[in-house]
Amino acid sequence: MFLDETGRNETTLVHEVFHLKLTAEGYPTFESHIDKALKPEPIKHVMLIVSNSLEHRVFYPEMRTMGLDPDRLVRAELENLMSGDTASAVVSEVQLANELLSIGG
Ligand SMILES: [Zn+2]
Repeated sequence: MFLDETGRNETTLVHEVFHLKLTAEGYPTFESHIDKALKPEPIKHVMLIVSNSLEHRVFYPEMRTMGLDPDRLVRAELENLMSGDTASAVVSEVQLANELLSIGG
């Protein structure tokens, strides 16, 4: 795992660990069997967004009691978008998870 200069810090790490904790504890997940003719990737992406949002409802309050601000990155991205700063990239949760959980070799 690595953290980088894009503003990801221990809050981001704790966030991803909470997702893993819920999975380890058996929190329900979506399962899909979508016909390839229906272009399943966008549908799976939406399902992931919904699933993540539900999980956030579970652990964000606990993160806040730890003194962390779980919404900071998303809030900053939203503020950039609303200000018309299209140069700032919106990092999807999938990209974030992939980057955070990748092991450098
Ligand atoms: Zn998340």
